[in-house]
Amino acid sequence: MAYDPDNIFAKILREEIPATRVYEDDQTLAFMDIMPRADGHLLVIPKTPCRNLLDATPEQLSAVIATTQKLSHAVMRAFGAEGVTIQQFNEEVGGQEVFHLHFHVLPRHEGVSLRPPGNMGDFDLIAQHAEKIRAALE
Ligand code: AMP
Repeated sequence: MAYDPDNIFAKILREEIPATRVYEDDQTLAFMDIMPRADGHLLVIPKTPCRNLLDATPEQLSAVIATTQKLSHAVMRAFGAEGVTIQQFNEEVGGQEVFHLHFHVLPRHEGVSLRPPGNMGDFDLIAQHAEKIRAALE
């Protein structure tokens, strides 16, 4: 399957649509998920194109995983989380909806379930959560 350069995350990378960015380096970008399944739910993507895990290069995977680990520590500090769930979906049948490789980072607390998918978050609250994560990265 070919990479579609007009997917929504490619548009975020080109700054054609807004995103609540929390971290970036030369190879990766992390931003808040607009339908958070947990407080602090964010996404980590490579800055270069690939659909998902199946067509990613070892260099893309290595950069994205390193940033996913960094942001996992940051969300645990920011939210006092006891763990994180990392999710990554491949192709439609695998649950993928946006076809630019991304890893979900979901802070977890004992006894707290993930919220159901597909519910738009509160913009101001997401912005507050992003600020906590940025502060935890410093
Ligand atoms: P999936 O491809 O199944 O991992 O799902 C795509 C994820 O991207 C979902 O969690 C959506 O809430 C999230 N999402 C979709 N559009 C945006 C956007 N413009 N900004 C941030 N997150 C988004």
